[in-house]
Amino acid sequence: MTLAPSDKALVPFVSVDNMMKLVHHIGIEPMLAGLADYIEADFRRWNLFDKTPRIASHSDEGVIELMPTSDGEVYGFKYVNGHPKNTKAGLQTVTAFGLLANVGNGYPVLLSEMTVLTALRTAATSAMVAKHLAPKGADTMAMIGAGAQSEFQSLAMKALVGLKSVRLYDIDPAATEKAARNLTGMGLEVVACRTPEAAMEGAQIITTCTADKQYATILTDNMVGSGVHINAIGGDCPGKTELAAGVLQRSTIFVEYPEQTRIEGEIQQLAPDHPVTEMWQVLSGEAPGRTSAEQITLFDSVGFAIEDFSALRYIRDHIGGTEYYMDLDLLADPDDPRDLFGMLQRAAP
Ligand code: NAD
Repeated sequence: MTLAPSDKALVPFVSVDNMMKLVHHIGIEPMLAGLADYIEADFRRWNLFDKTPRIASHSDEGVIELMPTSDGEVYGFKYVNGHPKNTKAGLQTVTAFGLLANVGNGYPVLLSEMTVLTALRTAATSAMVAKHLAPKGADTMAMIGAGAQSEFQSLAMKALVGLKSVRLYDIDPAATEKAARNLTGMGLEVVACRTPEAAMEGAQIITTCTADKQYATILTDNMVGSGVHINAIGGDCPGKTELAAGVLQRSTIFVEYPEQTRIEGEIQQLAPDHPVTEMWQVLSGEAPGRTSAEQITLFDSVGFAIEDFSALRYIRDHIGGTEYYMDLDLLADPDDPRDLFGMLQRAAP
């Protein structure tokens, strides 16, 4: 599939059903690895992109956000929500869809579900970062928060970092059981734990992925030993964090886009000039990653628009020649571009 203007203004659309079929067609771990490659490639050409903190509309219950970016040839955006109380009503905390468009003529070239894709791209980003920052030989991860993202996070760490064992903890034992069940037979040792401390025993990677719209303290200072890599996913909104400030003070902090992370990430608890390293600089060799075995590296993940752009690019490049999309009649396409009204009149019943 190309981004060239087509004579028919039909837009490929990937539904949830087709996204799931595509994941199974490619295989979940190869797809996580492929997404990570696309994300890493786009992080390496970081300076090409238009960048802005996402545009958030907050309510007491949650947030709705738009995440736009462009590399000058292709434009993309994601619509995404975050509503921690949704699960109690049988709804997802996070749902999303996104679009790619041709910058040259402004025509959309892909519309896609992004609820499943966001879980995949978030996990791929986490693992891509851990591959560069986690201590050598890391093979055990504590997974604190066993909700919708947790299995994706675990499998991406297996595919990219060589994870062998995942130690699950959720405040809700039913969530821990669900994740343990889903991960059975996937090539990981899975240990369900009753406390976060138990989950962290022997873990070199600690992923926090909880959902609560408050300054929570999932990790207190005394829970975190030296030399670990923390992959902090759940603190991603003003007033919504997971780590004690003391953990941040002892860590070397890596972020996606500081202008957004200072508003939304764990570092909203720190002074506005607290030093952070941008992950794209590590990937392009402009800044060091982990520099010692004792260092605590912390990826303060909030999710940035370029990751969604990369994920949509991956989907665009992999649906060509498959049956995993349908063409949508989304754009009015009169034969004479100035005769929009005539086209409407000719459609009269
Ligand atoms: P979810 O609601 O499906 O799962 C969250 C889990 O956290 C639930 O099972 C809940 O019981 C558990 N939890 C809440 N408080 C806890 C505590 N104190 N200790 C242990 N477990 C606790 O949500 P999800 O879709 O898995 O998303 C998890 C978080 O990740 C959300 O906050 C979401 O906003 C965030 N997120 C971040 C990114 C990113 O790019 N950084 C992307 C997607 C989601």
